[in-house]
Amino acid sequence: TRVVSGKIRDEDEPLEASLRPRRLAEYIGQEKVKEGLLISIQAAQARGECLDHLLLYGPPGLGKTTLASIVAAEMGVNLRITSGPAIERAGDLVSILTNLKPGDVLFIDEIHRLNRVVEEVLYPAMEDFAVDIVLGKGPAARSMRLNLPPFTLVGATTRLALLTSPLRDRFGSTYRLEFYSLEAMQKIVTRAARILGVAIDEDGAREIAARARGTPRIANRLLRRVRDYAQVRADGVITADVARAALEMLEVDHLGLDDVDRVILRTIVEKFDGGPVGVETLAAATSEEADTIEDVYEPYLIQLGFLQRTPRGRVATRRAYEHLDLPYVERPES
Ligand code: ADP
Repeated sequence: TRVVSGKIRDEDEPLEASLRPRRLAEYIGQEKVKEGLLISIQAAQARGECLDHLLLYGPPGLGKTTLASIVAAEMGVNLRITSGPAIERAGDLVSILTNLKPGDVLFIDEIHRLNRVVEEVLYPAMEDFAVDIVLGKGPAARSMRLNLPPFTLVGATTRLALLTSPLRDRFGSTYRLEFYSLEAMQKIVTRAARILGVAIDEDGAREIAARARGTPRIANRLLRRVRDYAQVRADGVITADVARAALEMLEVDHLGLDDVDRVILRTIVEKFDGGPVGVETLAAATSEEADTIEDVYEPYLIQLGFLQRTPRGRVATRRAYEHLDLPYVERPES
């Protein structure tokens, strides 16, 4: 039960929709992405065409689904949400595609997890707005091309490198979502508090923002936990002291690291002499999944400058030692 993971959890579900910004103007941060999208949207609208296919990548909880819904809202079309693992057979995808209305946005989360057969259906669909279906079996089988309404595919992935290049090449634009700045995070916390009707002061918002790992979903989750604490232990108002006390109880430190992060860093330092250590080995030594380490823990540790990804594996930096209060030993190779 990890509070500071960007992956969606059951506890997030009830409020996720109400906290989601609906229009581009409401979407805080990611300025480069917003600017690029705004230009594409306006150009497409001026031409009366649908928007080019769009690929969004970055760690979970940064706003990829939100952006897909905003694109649909700005274009005035419907949004259809699905995910790579949910589309098992080619026929599943064909039925989703043939049910789209002209201009609709189809959002495929975890698009790197589509299987090959399904992915191949996507190529002509993206390129020519058509699917080839096979009628009949054996020697009598023939292939028929079915036209689709023009649509916009918004693909999302946590790891761009896992996408095949033919799929990657079929997107008109690709945007990388970054961890949010402290300033943006503070605005996100303040906005969420307003929507939830929670009293919070500026320092309280900053305290939560600083520990949310640059990730809006985590900020929203921490805010809800702190709100509970404020109600029970304080007078309902979230001040810096209240936020700090609540987050300490959750064992989230001032940088937003929890015990799993600390175990990962400590393992590299203590069991592998600071690294390099391969991610699979690290996963085995910490009883975490390699995928989760790569998608969830590692990006933020790298962002903080605590971890380096080298061709030979992960290396803990001097800053990691300092954060853990361990004496730093210079490695001969580095
Ligand atoms: P992802 O698809 O990348 O995992 P989501 O789009 O589902 O992330 O975002 C998770 C939550 O974070 C949403 O419910 C939304 O409330 C919040 N959120 C994301 N981006 C922003 C933003 N720019 N401003 C405010 N809230 C945001």
